Amino acid sequence: MSTRKNIIAANWKMNVTPSEADSYLTTFLGTFPEATSVDIVIGASFVTLAKASEHISGSASVDLAAQNMHPEAGGAFTGETNAAMLNEVKCDYVILGHSERRAIFGETDAFINEKVHAVLAAGMKPILCIGESLEEREGGKLEPVLSGQLKGSLANVTAEQMADIVIAYEPVWAIGTGVTASPEQAQDTQKYVRSVLEEIFGGDVAGATRIQYGGSVKPGNAADLISRDDIDGFLVGGAALDPTSFADIVKAAL
Ligand code: PEP
Repeated sequence: MSTRKNIIAANWKMNVTPSEADSYLTTFLGTFPEATSVDIVIGASFVTLAKASEHISGSASVDLAAQNMHPEAGGAFTGETNAAMLNEVKCDYVILGHSERRAIFGETDAFINEKVHAVLAAGMKPILCIGESLEEREGGKLEPVLSGQLKGSLANVTAEQMADIVIAYEPVWAIGTGVTASPEQAQDTQKYVRSVLEEIFGGDVAGATRIQYGGSVKPGNAADLISRDDIDGFLVGGAALDPTSFADIVKAAL
């Protein structure tokens, strides 16, 4: 049994308006007033962050995440959001390098690495997403792909800074597809991810870093997944759109 505290995050993606967040969080926070044995994170869209923050600021167990951030401090970057804006609405975490940002918006490891440094410099915590496509897994490229994403996205990050970084392993083929990696596949892969962290930062850091699994996590598969040694929580998309379903996933990790 590891001493790492489980961290369960909802990724609302481009869903949940401010008024919808109001009713969601009223229901959800009513279910978890004192659930301090796990960290719970709500990842809201930029326009919903302020409303979600109003609810979450009074809760000891729930933190707030943005789903992206631009690495520059400000300037002519139409449509982007900087660290000062996220600090002002009391964001604790920023989800970075989600596969949808990599695939749809062309984000590279080098750009994600800039964001990692900017998030840390602003006193927030990155949730760094990595993951392989089905083609890469079936083509025998799982390990080089994950190792390359980790080394690229974490370039020049110090061992001390790793205390503030959460890794989310999300096989692209399991995100939003209803296909979950089997607990064995997820465990084996996350053990490999931890071995790469050990190679980069040493055994103590690797042993302390929390690695979430993401990809069609549901109330029905959460308990088996979370029982595995190297799975320290979840990043949940679809099943986190309903507060009761997300609460059931959190309960599996308590
Ligand atoms: C995600 O958005 O990070 C995700 C894992 O989505 P889903 O749970 O819907 O597969």
